[in-house]
Amino acid sequence: MKSESLNKMGLGTKAVHAGQAPDPTTGAVMTPIYQTSTYAQSAPGVHKGHEYARVTNPTRSALEGNLAALESAKYGMCFSSGVAATDAIVRCLRPGDHIVASNDLYGGTYRLMRQVFGPFGITSDFVDMSDLDVVKKAMKPNTKLLWIETPTNPLVRVVDLQALCAMARTHGATSAVDNTFASPILQRPLEWGADLVVHSTTKYLGGHSDVVGGAVCTNSDEWHEKLRFLIKSSGAVPGPMDCFLTLRGTKTLQIRMERHCHNAQVIAEHLENHPKVGKVYYPGLPSFAGHELAKKQMDGFGGMVSFLLKNDNIEAATRVMSSTHVFTLAESLGGVESLMNHPATMTHASIPAAERKAAGLSDTLIRLSVGIEDVKDLIADLDQALEKV
Ligand SMILES: *Cc1c(COP(=O)(O)O)cnc(C)c1O
Repeated sequence: MKSESLNKMGLGTKAVHAGQAPDPTTGAVMTPIYQTSTYAQSAPGVHKGHEYARVTNPTRSALEGNLAALESAKYGMCFSSGVAATDAIVRCLRPGDHIVASNDLYGGTYRLMRQVFGPFGITSDFVDMSDLDVVKKAMKPNTKLLWIETPTNPLVRVVDLQALCAMARTHGATSAVDNTFASPILQRPLEWGADLVVHSTTKYLGGHSDVVGGAVCTNSDEWHEKLRFLIKSSGAVPGPMDCFLTLRGTKTLQIRMERHCHNAQVIAEHLENHPKVGKVYYPGLPSFAGHELAKKQMDGFGGMVSFLLKNDNIEAATRVMSSTHVFTLAESLGGVESLMNHPATMTHASIPAAERKAAGLSDTLIRLSVGIEDVKDLIADLDQALEKV
């Protein structure tokens, strides 16, 4: 379908069609897996748009077009993982530059900024972005990047995209939003003024826990040029099979997100009223601090729910996490199947305990990635596990 006519269509239509057209040589409706490393040239320098597969591959280009359309972006660029996408952005900074990032964020982002880029002279501070004054105070003359996650991981705090992106712009810094938790169906940060949107496509975009990948979307010609140069020069690219799987995932993204949101809302409300449960973290609960902001900047509240037990100790939390049958205890999120995760020992173990505590991340917090199963079965599973404490 022509991209001009697709521009006016809804996200569900874009998810199915953007970036893809029936294969011109065979008519194949699905984008083929172009399993090739190189492309024939008819004369030196004369080719059909592809020279070498580190630089471009048609299956990857289809996925890039698809993601760009979903994020209201001019450009999409795919990477071999979410952290490779983050890595490419941070590599564009220089020794002496400073990053301000959310203090409640993906543990691997913290590790990358502190442990990989710290020794190269790029410093980073992690702050509570739900308080705009705190962010303003953290910005230094050499702050070049504002790294935003919302909803945050794992406390699902909602932070003000419009205000934070405007603050970065005024400061002359780039704003990058990790949109992995929301997916473009629920939130499109470029529309709120972000310079860059980052995804771990491993999560909701792929949606089936069978592929690892990452992406950056932007409207900036300059950032597109810088990141394309890094893709060519450092080559953290996904293979064509991985791009095909991710493209297959995005086709059903809209209907999956509807179900993730529905199931998560029902579960959050159930947990909130459960005698064994203390605090529930979910943007869809009217009692939750970020609820009003989520209604403004999101089109749904997402599939991630975190909670604490009333009997708030690690033995009880461990018993619950070891007792479910439908929820699988595992890292990651965003797949069709429900997962349960213990941030302190799993996804966020790379953040020092003192910093986790300062950020309000309790060692007894349990995080759920609510899947698309029948919600009554998920609730029964949680109830029988909670019975054990
Ligand atoms: C998983 C994740 C990442 C890292 O992505 P990978 O694909 O695992 O490299 C980054 N940000 C968030 C929010 C994530 O959940």
